Amino acid sequence: MALTFRGGVRLAEHKNTAGCPIEVFPAPERLYLPMLQHIGAPATPLVAPGDRVLRGQRIGTADKGLGAHVHSPVSGVVEKITTMRDALGRMVETVVIRNDYKAELIPYAPARREGNPTVGELADLVRDAGITGLGGASFPTHVKIRSAEGKAERVIVNCAECEPYITANHRLMLEEPERIVRGLLLLLSAFGVEEGILAVEDNKRDAIKTLTDRIRPYPALRVAPLRTKYPQGDERQLVYALLKKEIPAGKLPADLGCVIFNAETCAAIASAVERGAPLLERVVTVDGDCIVSPKNLLVPLGTPFSDLIDFCGLLPGKKIGKVISGGPMMGSAQFDLMAPVVKGTSALLVFAESRPEKAPLLPRCIRCGRCVAHCPMHLMPLYIARYAGAKDWENAGRYGAMSCVECGSCAYLCPGELPLVQYIRMAKTKIGEENRRKEAEAARRLAEAKGAGEAGNNKEEKEAVPS
Ligand code: SF4
Ligand code: SF4
Repeated sequence: MALTFRGGVRLAEHKNTAGCPIEVFPAPERLYLPMLQHIGAPATPLVAPGDRVLRGQRIGTADKGLGAHVHSPVSGVVEKITTMRDALGRMVETVVIRNDYKAELIPYAPARREGNPTVGELADLVRDAGITGLGGASFPTHVKIRSAEGKAERVIVNCAECEPYITANHRLMLEEPERIVRGLLLLLSAFGVEEGILAVEDNKRDAIKTLTDRIRPYPALRVAPLRTKYPQGDERQLVYALLKKEIPAGKLPADLGCVIFNAETCAAIASAVERGAPLLERVVTVDGDCIVSPKNLLVPLGTPFSDLIDFCGLLPGKKIGKVISGGPMMGSAQFDLMAPVVKGTSALLVFAESRPEKAPLLPRCIRCGRCVAHCPMHLMPLYIARYAGAKDWENAGRYGAMSCVECGSCAYLCPGELPLVQYIRMAKTKIGEENRRKEAEAARRLAEAKGAGEAGNNKEEKEAVPS
């Protein structure tokens, strides 16, 4: 029986591109490479305007802490370094490269070593390749690997792909299952664990079969079919579906022995270890009711969204109403189609001018309880939203605002069409700011107390010195 979690919603799937093989998108004339494509600190540019760069060359470095290197997917010349709006609406330092169409490759090779890499070696190789989580969150993968050392009991490959429309991972499972499996085997070997799970929603029967065939020689691996339900790809729901254990608030999957990687991330890890290959491109689903030919494309990072739309074609007579980077539930609406594809871009959805803004069926919360019944985090979204609306951040926090994974299930189901997620996000931002302020204040007080203590000691020491 397919595994599942409590709560969540069944959504219309719209997996229109499930039968569309991955096509290579031709690299555009100009690529826009933001130095921040991940969670953490931005990378620092290593190039200057006028520099010639090769395909695969590192152009942005993030050597310390939470960050990821950035590489050029083409050979060409750095035209400028500027500040541009990214798909999340942030202004980010961006290296603009003019493609010379020579695809001259910087020579890269696998690191010489005996056998499979250790955790430290794997993390270094993954960091050098600039890999981040490719499921959308873009957490630097080398940091995840290092932080799971000594905690991992199993490695889970998240192949759920539960958002409507997106089929990028699905196609990768069908077309490159070996690379995903090799990445998983490298992770198992590095962590020294013997349980590898490929978790796939049961609307991808062909992928379940393909992966099951590929893992036959490896008894440590298994494919776990999951019931198709949103948000099955959320790490907490994934762990619950597989282990029937809840990750406590404030804890991570690794605290329950689980390290989770997206399917395309696993494939990228295999390429980094086996070929020393940096992350230069990713699979993007392009779909929506404005698009002539919905496709799955292997797209160089830094390609503007407008180029993808031109490539797939706009239906004549349709006026674009909304463009979403990512899925319709958790993706972000775009203001500017010059925003580029980055490591976390799994899809680009182009919808026609939306239905005329209709008035909510009911003007306010009628306490139907649907948001509570379906929240996968077992929260009471109506109360969090109500307190956030009243700027009562303390009570919003008490009702668990910080545990919200922003899946949008509550807002999707709300008959009052209340903007529950927007309210909850606002509460999370304010509570986060308040927590940081308190931490800074506590650190300042501690430093002052230490300073006073040291001054007191010095005074006592001076007084104790005989004249
Ligand atoms: S789903 Fe909407 S109307 Fe129903 S209880 Fe929740 S907030 Fe209120
Ligand atoms: S409160 Fe958060 S986690 Fe719960 S359904 Fe709403 S968006 Fe999802």
